[in-house]
Amino acid sequence: MNNVVHTDHILALTRIVGQSNCLTSPDTVATYTVDYRGIYHGEAIAVVRPDSTEQVAEIVKYCRLHSIPMVPQGGNTSLLGGAVPEEAVPAVVINLARMRRVHEVDPFNNTMTVEAGATLHAVRAAAEAADRFFPLRIGSEGSCQIGGNISTNAGGTAVLRYGNMRELVLGLEVVLPSGEIWNGLRGLRKDNTGYDIKQIFIGAEGTLGLITKAVIKLFPVPTSRAVAFVGLARAADALRLLELCKAKADTCLSAFELISQPALELSLAALNGVRSPLAQVYPWYALIELSSGQEQEQLDALLLEALETASEASCIEDAMVATSQTQAQQLWTIREEISDAQTRTGGSVRCDISVPLSKIPQFIEQATERVLALAPNTRMVVYGHMGDGNVHFNPLRPDTQSAAEYLATHGAEITKAVDSLAAQFNGSISAEHGIGVAKRDELPHIKSRVELEIGWAIKKAIDPENLMNPGKVLPALPERDGKE
Ligand SMILES: Cc1cc2nc3c(=O)[nH]c(=O)nc-3n(C[C@H](O)[C@H](O)[C@H](O)COP(=O)(O)OP(=O)(O)OC[C@H]3O[C@@H](n4cnc5c(N)ncnc54)[C@H](O)[C@@H]3O)c2cc1C
Repeated sequence: MNNVVHTDHILALTRIVGQSNCLTSPDTVATYTVDYRGIYHGEAIAVVRPDSTEQVAEIVKYCRLHSIPMVPQGGNTSLLGGAVPEEAVPAVVINLARMRRVHEVDPFNNTMTVEAGATLHAVRAAAEAADRFFPLRIGSEGSCQIGGNISTNAGGTAVLRYGNMRELVLGLEVVLPSGEIWNGLRGLRKDNTGYDIKQIFIGAEGTLGLITKAVIKLFPVPTSRAVAFVGLARAADALRLLELCKAKADTCLSAFELISQPALELSLAALNGVRSPLAQVYPWYALIELSSGQEQEQLDALLLEALETASEASCIEDAMVATSQTQAQQLWTIREEISDAQTRTGGSVRCDISVPLSKIPQFIEQATERVLALAPNTRMVVYGHMGDGNVHFNPLRPDTQSAAEYLATHGAEITKAVDSLAAQFNGSISAEHGIGVAKRDELPHIKSRVELEIGWAIKKAIDPENLMNPGKVLPALPERDGKE
């Protein structure tokens, strides 16, 4: 596309969203065309910031008419390059940040109808203002948007109790690649009227349309919360401890996070002098949270009982129980800082894997062996939502090596070693972060051709010209080898 044609497009898009919301100056556009980690860069014809579903539909119709690729964008906190244009494919970035109104909170139906551009933080605050609770909790909550959360089927630290985003969505409004608006904003918990259409947009990473509104589930506010930080000798002990906590606390168990010593060390250093919650150093730690509507004393007693049983069974080395909500929050800050601390340190290979819960210790042991055989001085930053069978297995460069050198030498081989091991365990190479561009070309090695063809069949039915977030999620189809 040449510059004269670009100018025509910019004029047309400006007519839809107004001058101040059709961004074209290179400096401004640059902030929307690079991903959160600064790894993926693309080119945008313009960044448009619509204010309504109707404006989104007009933009999409215009782009379709002129065969212009489109990239839906929320808070741009995706870790896999999904929310920015591909390098060689100039696109119109459709940023949803201005569509952030809460339309309705229905406390009896326990639902909220909200525009896609509302940040997760704002959604949680709006629920709280209505004496309700929206449980999705992830480290990027101040920037990520509910539309982005739905499009990535975000997970986070409360999946154990409330499920991931797929389980928290009841209805959607979507602008399809044709520009048509699909209104599926139903707040129903039972609806067996054929295919559950909303499901194909959840986790589709913007490849099938733009989510403009959603009806999401709310819950009663948990009035009490008990949090403990536990030292462990082995990852296998975390599995036993988790089982004990489940047996004692049942549905009150709302989070169970595993943290390796190098991950803790990284976080504490980033938090400028915050001390470890435990006096001694252990190879592994678990952060446990119980929450419920019962009295705080009852919940505290439940947590202590679980820890005592664990101690008698010799599966914990030491534990610190938060004595106030401030202290509980400090423990969570240590956990939540790990991701950003890695980004700032640079030089970590991010593998977001899940395997059957029972296999987590074995997986960690074997993956660690593989990585250390390839890159002996690697810091094993391993942490994550163990309660869901999900760990972020993120080998980090040694202090003595630069990020660029470590990634150039070891990035690809570590990813291959860890992801292929996850596949051997019948696990997933992306438990919650999605595929974006970063993981796209790994899919043919782990999914059957049949599964990939079903994906492409859906894509072609809804977006026949491949204009909606092209190059993301779906890999090129491999040649048939006659085996399937
Ligand atoms: C510090 C940190 C911690 C994180 N922790 C977690 C975690 O615990 N669990 C987890 O799951 N993720 C986590 N993430 C990853 C990320 O925050 C999530 O994937 C989040 O859901 C992305 O939301 P977003 O609004 O930033 O989406 P974006 O990054 O803007 O977009 C993500 C994808 O969705 C598409 N998209 C965005 N909005 C729409 C829309 N309205 N309609 C259609 N498509 C759309 C984009 O095209 C892109 O493909 C973390 C990220 C950071 C930086």
